[in-house]
Order: sequence, then structure tokens, then C-alpha cells
Amino acid sequence: MKSDVIYDLLIIGGGISACVFASKYLKNNITKKVGLIEIGRGLGGRSSTRISKKYEGWKLNHGSPNFNISNSKNNLLLKRYIDELLENKYIKIDDSEIFFLNEDSNLETKKKSEFSCGINYLSLDSMSELSKKIIYSNNLKEEIDFFFETLIVDMKFNDKGWLLTSKNGDKFKSKYLICSTNLLLHKRSLKILNVNQIPLRKAIPINSDKKIDLLLNILEEQTFIPRLTFLIYTNKNYSYKDNYSKKLRYFYLKNNLEKKYRFERIIFQLQDNNKLGIVVHSKDAELINSYISAKDEEVFKQKIIKKFNKLFKENSFVNKLTFDEKISIMKWRASQPSGLAAPLSLQFSRKSKIGFCGDWFEGNGFGRIEGSILSALILEKKIKDLIK
Ligand SMILES: Cc1cc2nc3c(=O)[nH]c(=O)nc-3n(C[C@H](O)[C@H](O)[C@H](O)COP(=O)(O)OP(=O)(O)OC[C@H]3O[C@@H](n4cnc5c(N)ncnc54)[C@H](O)[C@@H]3O)c2cc1C
Repeated sequence: MKSDVIYDLLIIGGGISACVFASKYLKNNITKKVGLIEIGRGLGGRSSTRISKKYEGWKLNHGSPNFNISNSKNNLLLKRYIDELLENKYIKIDDSEIFFLNEDSNLETKKKSEFSCGINYLSLDSMSELSKKIIYSNNLKEEIDFFFETLIVDMKFNDKGWLLTSKNGDKFKSKYLICSTNLLLHKRSLKILNVNQIPLRKAIPINSDKKIDLLLNILEEQTFIPRLTFLIYTNKNYSYKDNYSKKLRYFYLKNNLEKKYRFERIIFQLQDNNKLGIVVHSKDAELINSYISAKDEEVFKQKIIKKFNKLFKENSFVNKLTFDEKISIMKWRASQPSGLAAPLSLQFSRKSKIGFCGDWFEGNGFGRIEGSILSALILEKKIKDLIK
């Protein structure tokens, strides 16, 4: 047992939704004992930054590079929160160039994608830093016990509250529980956690809580998009053909081109040391499979560089890569939820003393940071007065 503490609230996950939730909750409940458990080494989850140990000085956002708010006009809660982040100078409006490449490799700037519609925002530092700043604001860092590199694999519930067990056998007790990830509610947990029953189903047996039954039923219809991201650490002298100097520059591939090249978008990320990093995203099943089955990773990487050079052959901004650029590859088993979104009405069960937030809830921001932030804000409002 972790020092025999019984937490008022334990939060599973340290992505942006958990950070938003924890910071809002603690601001209003400073006396509560809160713990946060995350399998990763730090905060940020799918909107985090790879700080390379191998290639010094590089910080590449390998998940979400920025975020867009497609609709805050009709949503005061979200609007106020974004304004708060802007006032604190954690984010700024992202006015980077966005290009849409079409079949003839021509550029369009007017198009919009699900990741660029509405207003785009940029973390003033890296994406991981954004999550950190959110949680460390109002001096809240000291108020939370953090447990990193800790994977929860088992959950138990009784009328006193929750008992969680990590893969290493550590136990955590709390009166209330927040899951900012749906791994422990979803069938993918069986394989990933190597368990024989979905952990939340095991903790709350069927017919004991209608809300939980409904939520678990809906999640049966939720699937996840796998993605690959290629992180390219370019050579010392690599630069644009023009004098573009903003932090980011985006190239989206339109449908046919995406099919042809199997790349989804390419994001250039200027580093503090002025080197130019490149992150290539792909959600193409064939490319992902060919990566999984590749016998020689180096040969696979060379193919990626070849494709990149072909794509940008006639481009007036982007230079060719040489074949000795360093690349690392990140495989996201579940980069974004898709299919059925969870209804916000099932976000909190008073009976089972459990709440949920994340990008897997319904709304304009489903599958994106917008949805993560909004669901966390709504959850905090719902439980503010309940957890006494
Ligand atoms: C490659 C990629 C590109 C993307 N691009 C964009 C974009 O351009 N714009 C946009 O808005 N969104 C984008 N997204 C989606 C965006 O990153 C997510 O919507 C958002 O980061 C989700 O935040 P979250 O807090 O809801 O979940 P997460 O970030 O997934 O946080 C959940 C956390 O829980 C942890 N966890 C899970 N299970 C356990 C367990 N059992 N024990 C302990 N810890 C656990 C995980 O490690 C994770 O850190 C992208 C995602 C990826 C992967």
C-alpha cells in the first residue's frame, strides 16, 4: 500500500484532460488529498514531446503538435478556459502556415481539416510543457502526489471506495476515482494489460450500476485509429528554401495524395537551437503493417525518406532530405478514438464514485484536445459539490 494513504481522489492518466481536471478541481478543493497515476515518465499523454536522449537538444511534439478549438463561441466554459490559458501565456494563437498538397503537388492554403478548423493554438513551449504548466499553475504541484511509470491493471470497488493495483503490485486507495483514459473500460485492455476481464467490468459487475453498464456497452462500439509518427532529426545544415522563421509549418496531404504516399501530414518544427525537425504522421494501415513486418528498420526508414523527397520534389519551400538523416519511429496503438462517442450524461456515477474525462466523449472535440479539455471542465463542474 502506498504509505497507507487513503486519497480523497485518485486520477488515472496524466494527459491534458487529467491535468485540466486536476488543476480546476484542486483550485476549488485545496484541502483534498489527490493522487495522479500515469504509466508514462511525465505528463502530456498523447499531446506530449519526445526529448531525445540519443539526439541531444531535440524536442519534437510526436503526438498532437498544437490544438484547434472548432467551437467556443457557443461554449462559455471552454471559451473562458482558453482565455485563461492565453492570459497566463501558456498558449498563443497559432498563425503558422498550413498548406494542403493536392495531386499535382500544388499548394492550397484555404482548406480546413479536422485538426485546423476554427482557431488554432500553440503551446508557448513544447506540448508536454503545456500539460505541466496547467497542473503546476496556482502552485498546485505540491498538492498532488504523482506516481509515474505506474500502470494500473486491476480495480476493486466497495462502499468505502476504490482499491487500485499496479502491474508491480503497488496498491492505491481512494474515496473517489477519475479515469482520464478509457483503457480500463475498453476491450483493448484485455490484450494490452494481459487481463481476462475488462478491469472496470470486474470492479462493477453487470446490473449493479446502470450508468456503468450503458457506458461499457457504448464503448464496445468505440474503436481507435492507430498511427505512426516518423521523427526526423535533420542534419545541421538542413533548412527551408525560403526564409520562413515561425516555429511550425504544416503540410496536409489531400485524399488522393494521402492514398498515394501514405502520409497524412508533415509538420516542420523549428528547434531552440535553430535546427529543423520534421514529424511525418501516417494512419495508413498498409504502411503501419509494413513497418511492423519490416525485417530491416533502416531499409524501411530509407523508403520513408525517398517518399518524402518525391513528395516535395517540385516544392518551392522544402528541401530534399539526405539519406543520413536520423529517424525514430513512434507507433501509436490508439492515437484517436473513432466510432461511437461516449455521452456526457454518463460521465459521472455517484453510485460507483467514479468520473471519466478525455477525448472519447461526444461533442465537436471528439478525438481531439478540444474534447479532452471540455470534458474535463464539465466533469469538474459536475462533481464539485458531490465530493465532500
Ligand atoms: C499522432 C497524434 C496526432 C494527433 N494530432 C492531433 C491534433 O492535431 N489536434 C488535436 O486536437 N488532437 C490531436 N491528437 C489527439 C490528441 O492528442 C488527444 O485527443 C489528446 O491528447 C487526448 O488527451 P487525453 O488527456 O484525453 O488522453 P491521453 O493523452 O491519452 O491521456 C491518458 C493518459 O492515461 C495514461 N494511462 C492509460 N491507461 C493507464 C493505466 N492503466 N495506468 C496508468 N496510466 C494510464 C496514458 O499513458 C495517458 O498518458 C493527436 C493524437 C496523436 C497520437
